[in-house]
Amino acid sequence: MNLILLGPPGAGKGTQASMICNDFNLTHISTGDLLRNETKSSSDLGKEIKSIVDAGNLVSNEIILRILKNFISKNNDASGFLFDGFPRNAEQAGLLDQLMHEINFKLNAVIMLDVDKELLLNRILKRKEDEGRADDNEKVLENRLRVYFEETQPLIEVYQNENLLIKIDGEGEISQVNQRINASLRSL
Ligand code: ADP
Repeated sequence: MNLILLGPPGAGKGTQASMICNDFNLTHISTGDLLRNETKSSSDLGKEIKSIVDAGNLVSNEIILRILKNFISKNNDASGFLFDGFPRNAEQAGLLDQLMHEINFKLNAVIMLDVDKELLLNRILKRKEDEGRADDNEKVLENRLRVYFEETQPLIEVYQNENLLIKIDGEGEISQVNQRINASLRSL
């Protein structure tokens, strides 16, 4: 099984992604995590990525494709992937289609985590205290949300038209949200 986890910053994608991957034996691909790993290196590319991520903008599709292909080739024994934070715009959705075709995998569903905007802000500002991510401050967050609503949200309709969309209420306890996701995946 191959899945996309879609949702705004703060929707809980990372948390739910690990749980889904455990339950359904999928390999987690978080482009955000992969990019943050790159920024730990002091290479020019690492620095370039850091400045983009810290400003809450999207890294170029070329860089994303390169790190994705690299990750997939290192995990070529995976039974399926869960894409978290990718695709984030229409062009990336096309790249994912191509990528899946190349490795002969099929996309089974797109899980959209639905959370009220007010709650997103609260969750992220709390996360800043716990994790200290440079892009979790109020000003950058505003930009990340704007980028999400302008570029990523339109994908919801695209996947709905392809009959792949599963909309999940992302509010409530982590375990409740997880149960909602599991129930809909089991009935696929
Ligand atoms: P969140 O969903 O909470 O914003 P992520 O860890 O998914 O957190 O992403 C953090 C940042 O990494 C994004 O704001 C963006 O700068 C960069 N990023 C992650 N995934 C992508 C992607 N697919 N394309 C471009 N940039 C990305």
